[in-house]
Parts: sequence; structure tokens; C-alpha cells
Amino acid sequence: MTVRVGITGAAGRMGRTLVEAVAAAEGVQLAAALERPDSSLIGADAGELAGLGKNGVAVAGDLAEVIGDIDVLIDFTVPAATLANVALCAENGVAVVIGTTGFTADEQARIDAAAGKTSVCKASNFSTGVNLCFKLLDMAARVLGDDVDIEIIEAHHRHKIDAPSGTALSMGGVVANALGRDLAEVAVYGREGQTGARERETIGFATVRAGDVVGDHTVLFAADGERIEITHKASSRMSFARGAVRAAGWLAAKEPGLYDMQDVLGLKADSEDAGQLAR
Ligand code: NAP
Repeated sequence: MTVRVGITGAAGRMGRTLVEAVAAAEGVQLAAALERPDSSLIGADAGELAGLGKNGVAVAGDLAEVIGDIDVLIDFTVPAATLANVALCAENGVAVVIGTTGFTADEQARIDAAAGKTSVCKASNFSTGVNLCFKLLDMAARVLGDDVDIEIIEAHHRHKIDAPSGTALSMGGVVANALGRDLAEVAVYGREGQTGARERETIGFATVRAGDVVGDHTVLFAADGERIEITHKASSRMSFARGAVRAAGWLAAKEPGLYDMQDVLGLKADSEDAGQLAR
């Protein structure tokens, strides 16, 4: 069966890469491409926007008009748009792959509720490498325990609108969970002035926004006399897009529920908690 895919934000950085990834993948077919209703790109050819040449899929402005044409929606936009799209997909039994980051706890609860009606796969990062890093971080935190200071440093391009990145927060969640800490209580988001000495159980976040950096993440485990750094560097958005398209193919056959990339990759078997925190 060929899975019919819709892509929202099809002219965005991830949207264009997703159109390219769908064209390169087997078992999936681009059935709809969407932008804002008032976008000047409505009616443009989605393949041409992605630099592929015409593919015959005209950019639409209203998801309701094309929802009957798709099995899975891939959404990498902004939280408000994603929430509206997820609600419509839930009503129509269309599966959703969510790549958008920056949701509040209340917004996440709305996604959880929608996952009671349709299958949803949400991940702060769809690359295979980052999902492997989540496993490595879980292992490192369990071995190093309370003997190290843990800091998370991330860098992204100048256009990114949320901070720290969803991936950095997921990494913090995985590490905190492994150590029995609550990230909300121990996270320190930047430091300035007379901060006092570092408290061991805190997990620090540092954010860099510059140039065209696709996405770098380092988790530092520092003890007296040695330190370990687990680093992932994305050099192309294609790593995220390929993962999201793989998730779309996988999700089409699933029962309603909330899944993540650890489910898609089969990485959950021996570390359920680490996977759940990777959303
Ligand atoms: P982008 O280039 O700004 O693209 C966002 C797209 O969404 C644009 O086409 C934008 O259209 C559209 N959009 C914005 N608001 C909308 C609305 N209200 N209704 C309909 N469409 C709307 O951003 P990006 O770099 O592709 O990133 C998009 C999201 O994906 C971000 O949350 C980012 O953090 C996330 N992301 C996730 C992963 C992952 O693996 N999970 C990887 C990379 C990025 P306009 O240009 O007209 O506003």
C-alpha cells in the first residue's frame, strides 16, 4: 500500500526538505502540500518549490479541503498551526507526524487528547543519530550518576524561534529521568551575575543562535579529572526529514495512540522511560 502524505508549511525550511524526502522514499506519495491560506505561494507547484522540478501537487491553503486525499499529515510549522491541524486530523482519522517544537504543557495535553482518536508520532528530533544519542545519554547518566556536573549546550541557525531547542530539552529529560530528578526543578536556563557555586543536581542549558547552523547538541558530563561529551551535529535537514517520512510510513498502519521516533526505530525495548521523554 502506498501511503498518501500531506505536508504543512511546505515552503518552509523543513517543508521543502520533506517534499524532497517523500520523493526519494518508497511506499509514500505526496498527495497534498499546504501553506497559510493567505500565502502568495498558494497554487505553486510543491516540487518546484523544493527545487525538484514540477511534481503536479499544487500548494493548498485549507487542510479541510484536502484532508480526504491523505493518510498521514507531516507537520513542521508553529505550535498554533500544528494544534489546529492535529484537531482536524483527529476528527477525520488521519495520522499525524509532528515535528514542530516549543509546545507548552497545556498544548501538549491537547496533542495527548488527540492521540486518543488518531495515531500521532511526535519527536523533538527525527534523526536516527539523535535518537541513538538519547540511548547513550540514558546509559551515561546511569553509570556516572551523581559524580558529575551535567550541562547541555546547543546551537542553531539565527531563524530559530524557541530556546532551548526541543532536542536539548528532550536530552535533559532523558538524563534527569535516569538520575531520578525532575527536570522542571533542576534545569538552569542560562547564568548571569553572582550565581553562586554550582549545585551538583542542577542540569544547565546554554543556547547559541548563529548563522546557518542546522543543529548541534552536546551533553557534558564533567567530574574532577575527566569529562565525557556526547555530541550530535546535524549538517543537513535531510536527516530529520528522512526520519519523519519513515515515521509517516510506519504510523499509517498503527492504532490511535501517541508514539515517538524511538518507537519507529524499535529502540524502546530496554529503556521505556528514555523513549517517552524523547518527545
Ligand atoms: P520555517 O522555515 O519557518 O517553516 C515553517 C513553515 O510553517 C513556513 O512555511 C510557515 O509559513 C508555516 N507556518 C507558520 N505559521 C503558520 C500558520 N499559522 N499556518 C500555516 N502555516 C504556517 O521553520 P522550520 O525551520 O522549517 O521549522 C519548523 C518547525 O520544525 C520548528 O518548530 C522547528 O523547531 C521544528 N523542527 C523540528 C525538527 C525535528 O526533527 N523534530 C527538525 C527541524 C525543525 P510562513 O513562512 O508563511 O510563516
